[in-house]
Amino acid sequence: MSGLNAFWPKWFTWMDPLSRTQQIKDYVALANKVRWQRQGSFLVAAVLAGCYFNPVITLVCYLGVFFSDVLDLLMCAKAASWDVKNQKVAVRLMIWIAVNTVISAVTICTFIICIALQQPSGGHFTPLIFLFSASLFATMYNSQMMGILLLRLSIYGVTFLFIAFLDVLRYHPSLSSPIWLNLFTVFFVLYFMIDISLKFSQNYKEQLDRLRIIKEESEKAKIASEIKSQFISTVSHELRTPLTSIKGSLDLANSGLLGEVPEKLKRVLGIAVKNGQRLEKLVNDLLDVQKIEAGKMEFQLERLNVNELVKESIESATGYAEKLGIHVTTILPAREMFIQGDHSRLVQVMNNLLSNAFKFSNENGSVQVRVTSDGDHVRISVQDEGLGIPESARDRIFRSFSQVDSSDRRKVEGTGLGLNIAKQIVERHAGTIDYTSEHGVGSTFYIELPLSHVGIAELPPGDRAPRELPPSRNRAANGTG
Ligand code: ADP
Repeated sequence: MSGLNAFWPKWFTWMDPLSRTQQIKDYVALANKVRWQRQGSFLVAAVLAGCYFNPVITLVCYLGVFFSDVLDLLMCAKAASWDVKNQKVAVRLMIWIAVNTVISAVTICTFIICIALQQPSGGHFTPLIFLFSASLFATMYNSQMMGILLLRLSIYGVTFLFIAFLDVLRYHPSLSSPIWLNLFTVFFVLYFMIDISLKFSQNYKEQLDRLRIIKEESEKAKIASEIKSQFISTVSHELRTPLTSIKGSLDLANSGLLGEVPEKLKRVLGIAVKNGQRLEKLVNDLLDVQKIEAGKMEFQLERLNVNELVKESIESATGYAEKLGIHVTTILPAREMFIQGDHSRLVQVMNNLLSNAFKFSNENGSVQVRVTSDGDHVRISVQDEGLGIPESARDRIFRSFSQVDSSDRRKVEGTGLGLNIAKQIVERHAGTIDYTSEHGVGSTFYIELPLSHVGIAELPPGDRAPRELPPSRNRAANGTG
């Protein structure tokens, strides 16, 4: 891109299609923004001139400026429906803008010259101030197109000089006359106008360059992220197939169907199975993260009974709880509540919260699962009395690959992906996930999901508040972490 900039000379960026497109877009956006402000200023100037000078000439000039604004409006409407790829239209729009500029500048200058001609002498304060204001306005709002700005300013410049020379031609004053002073002052103002137009235009060009760099960088970042996602997806898929076969073989060997397994080998096989499960979890989590990032995680929404969902999730995690000696209690509302959700994904979220609660609990600790509702949302909380989370970790707890203790010495296994995936799943259900925690005392992770009101409507009034059930001991199943 910088190559392109070097190729197109500084003031001819309009020849480069990318710059031209951006310039037209910026011009149109600004023109739409300042059109009424410009018309308002010109109306005030016309009313003033109409009161002190010839009102007919003023009206004709005002109509001329109005006409050029109508043309500008039409051009902006055309630009709005322009397919930016069609550069022929871009060139036509440029020509249109140039023609409008000439019409508008010539009309404004005619108006100003008419005022100057009607003044016998005295420095032509009013027309010069009008002209100065028009030039300043153009400098501020036309700096996207240096060519157009130069066109307008040259017409204004000629008018400046004409007004400045008007009295010199009329009165042939001596060099000490204030008429010459006026002329030199006009030269100074002209220099000043050219200087600030160059600065505005330079600023605009720098902005365009920055915009290009940002676009290029974001394009590169997008490509890099796509390559990364593709890489993760390929590696994970390639790992999953051999892993399934390794796990299958280990399970077969462990089952004793291939012959009796000696005690020493059992221990080694046990370690291999455990590590196989860890690897499988990592691969599955990576695939989920990649699916979420690519927006490819699909959800099969159905009406779900919250109590059933919670019971099922606890059941599938109790094996892990029992292995760690964790006592699980559930407090469910007496009446049923319903949500719209993807069953297996929500069980996955619950499994993550439960397995975290178990593995970060102290040995023989307790975990309580509770379902409550405010009538619009259901809250499922998982409370443990374990390690707790320091406040300093709050910002990163839901980020991917984030673990409070990520050192090699940590006792608890994990990928640091579970909560990140859980958050994305819950948010895709229009819900929220959060936690409260006290370091060393325990944590409560909870998800809140909107209730499906079909279910709520079926409830008799007053039955929406949950009633607590007595704690229950849970049966064994397999846990994940
Ligand atoms: P993983 O458990 O696989 O490391 P998660 O994303 O599920 O990944 O959790 C991220 C981190 O959040 C954990 O490593 C742990 O530091 C912290 N964490 C999550 N749940 C709890 C909990 N109940 N008690 C204490 N720390 C927790």
